[in-house]
Amino acid sequence: MKINKLIYTLFILFSLQYYILARKYSHHYERNLEDELIDLISRNLNQISSDSTEVSQESYNDENKVELDDPVDVDLWNKLNDEDIKKMPQIDDYSSEKQAKSWLKWYLRVSKRYHQISVLLGWNHKTNLTEENRKAMSAQNLKSAPFSRQTLPIAKKFDEYMTHSSDEDLKRTYDRLARGTVSNNDENVKKSSKLHAQLEQIYSTAEVCELNDNTKCYTLSPYLERLMQIEKDYDRLLWAWKGWHNQCGNKIRPVYLPYIDLLDENIKENGYKDEAQKWIEEYEMGNETEFESILDQSLQDIMPFYEQLHAFVRGRLCEIYPKRFDCNGPIPAHLLGNMWAQQWQNRLDDLMPYPDTPLVNITRILYKKKYTIEKMYKTAENFFTSINLYPMTPKFWARSMFTKPVDRDVVCHASAFDFRYHNDYRVKICTIMDDDYFYTIHHEMGHIEYYMSYANQRYDYQDGANSGFHEAIGDTIGMYAISPRHLVKIGFLDEESINSHYEMNFLMRMALQKVAFLPFAYVMDKYRFALFRNEINRDTELNAKWWALRIQYGGIMAPVPRSDPENFDAGAKFHIPSGTPYARYFIAHILQFQFYRAMCRLQGQTKRLHMCDIYGNKHVGERFKEMLAMGSSKPWSEILESLTGENKLEPQAMVDFFEPLYKWLKMENLARGYPVGWK
Ligand SMILES: [Zn+2]
Repeated sequence: MKINKLIYTLFILFSLQYYILARKYSHHYERNLEDELIDLISRNLNQISSDSTEVSQESYNDENKVELDDPVDVDLWNKLNDEDIKKMPQIDDYSSEKQAKSWLKWYLRVSKRYHQISVLLGWNHKTNLTEENRKAMSAQNLKSAPFSRQTLPIAKKFDEYMTHSSDEDLKRTYDRLARGTVSNNDENVKKSSKLHAQLEQIYSTAEVCELNDNTKCYTLSPYLERLMQIEKDYDRLLWAWKGWHNQCGNKIRPVYLPYIDLLDENIKENGYKDEAQKWIEEYEMGNETEFESILDQSLQDIMPFYEQLHAFVRGRLCEIYPKRFDCNGPIPAHLLGNMWAQQWQNRLDDLMPYPDTPLVNITRILYKKKYTIEKMYKTAENFFTSINLYPMTPKFWARSMFTKPVDRDVVCHASAFDFRYHNDYRVKICTIMDDDYFYTIHHEMGHIEYYMSYANQRYDYQDGANSGFHEAIGDTIGMYAISPRHLVKIGFLDEESINSHYEMNFLMRMALQKVAFLPFAYVMDKYRFALFRNEINRDTELNAKWWALRIQYGGIMAPVPRSDPENFDAGAKFHIPSGTPYARYFIAHILQFQFYRAMCRLQGQTKRLHMCDIYGNKHVGERFKEMLAMGSSKPWSEILESLTGENKLEPQAMVDFFEPLYKWLKMENLARGYPVGWK
């Protein structure tokens, strides 16, 4: 599994070379739009002085302050591996547990070094997109590939025998190791790597031009994305939406199909039915039918609440945009404050249950209180240490990338890195001082806390209990961190401002972010599974099927007629061209409410969960930490149970959290005559 991940990571990194080239063109015109947007933002934050939108380059990112005499030495590590590979333990009996153990020890030693090199080279490249850094990664990929080809068949062979072993750990270990895939066809590897690079290139370089001015064109990030958040004008939003989906999705289509065909060929060589089967296996949630019925059931449990939320949002938008769409039908996708209509909290101002009691504007407070980017990180760290989790390490502070560098191209997409070497953990975030990034910092730091917590596990268990867990940790803490109770504690909000109206607005903000997301996340992989299984006619329904699912499960529709075979609107969402599975985010959204509820309960709070804050509770934090420390050493259900007492996904935790809002929505929709459901 690790090696598979490694190859996959290298694939992604390889493709970034095109991204560098791609970015050079559009800076000038983006500047104009940026000015416009900054103008819009500052009008939003009317009390903020005009120079406050500048991010200062702080000096804390000073590598000299930390001992740097212990880096991973790529040449040395490769040399050590070359020597170790020659010393592979003799195997004459695959049923021997003793031999299985000694082979495992050898295997882990070599893989760990390859992994450390790969993380280092990946970091070097993503934080400095040069041809040299890309080539270093490609070369390393070629260097480590023969090792996976050599070891995977052996791991599979051991797995056959170890299935019958009474040693649960050995059984689990080989079951996981045997899941890797390799390609023995170098040509296919090259081809699919090239297609993948092309897909990411299209996504990063697609531009939307002004209707009347072909010289003014904009890329998605950060400008079109920002526009979708702030702009309210129906037609301007439609221009951005349509432009992006045509410019990106249409071009993704002819590259994406041959790309997934190659993946399919490779996955079949490795004995799988299709790519869907492989993706589902990773979660350890049963076979495909079982996995999908767990997701179906979870979505159904949330649906009554989602429908009420949808009804209210549509009702309000119908009043704001009269006669622009059918008030009984699905909501046009461009009106929800997000390019993909996946999270709707950016429209909160128009959707507050009590507009007279607006929520505190965190962005504004950050400026008012003269926060710096560093202080945002320190504030997040303080939450984690207050509950006895780990402080960030000196290397974290010295080596992370906290702001967008001015002297080089980087990948800005926020992420966290586990170097698995001498307390080296880092984040890479092009931080801007606003509420979104305040949340993102908690999210990414959550990954780092998880890394640190399971660092004492054996190398192959240094991983999330499943991929949903990893995404849920920082989100859980982030929810406490922006809760009204906590904002009072850190001086962002006066105690007196909190009342039942304020609380309801807060619940609405959270629902627009968390509940609205579920149908979207669900459809992302529902659609791809169908595609991987050849259940979609590529000529006549590739695009139609995407919208059929989005309408069916989420009541969201394309704002203008779309058509096959030109359009491919799914391809206008990053995770489709980049080939990243998405069910993990669906699962993470269910799990984070379970973690959240469990920790509130441990603290003695069982009602009004939205007013719970575990800040400073070391006892509760210790329980959380114990769960994190298990890594992936046990099945995820056991790990979940250790904290929550629950051994399966329980969407009820989310329903509990939103209970007061659910009641309010039902009454309000009735009173306002907003219909529920969509035709
Ligand atoms: Zn994450």
